[in-house]
Amino acid sequence: MDDFVSCPFNPLHRMLKVNLQHHIIKCMKNYPDYVPCIYNAMHRFPNKEKMIEHIATCPSQKLAISDGNTPRRANTAAAPNSLHEGRKFHTDEENWNVEYV
Ligand SMILES: [Zn+2]
Ligand SMILES: [Zn+2]
Repeated sequence: MDDFVSCPFNPLHRMLKVNLQHHIIKCMKNYPDYVPCIYNAMHRFPNKEKMIEHIATCPSQKLAISDGNTPRRANTAAAPNSLHEGRKFHTDEENWNVEYV
């Protein structure tokens, strides 16, 4: 089953979790006064006080602290994409270099 989440700026904006980051980048232009969480830019708050309150309970805080020891969950989610893109980019770069030389 797909994960639906609400936009942190406007709960009426609903989307798939995978689309949230993209949506926030677009939507944040409509809410320039919102303050991002220091641990996760996808958490947004109408003012700094709310953001500071949130930090105490931010679920990304634990991930940030245990960063040296990458969480298995985040790793699995990020790996397929970054691996694919990394390889593609590497290949393009190599071709480009050959042509350039
Ligand atoms: Zn939105
Ligand atoms: Zn947060």
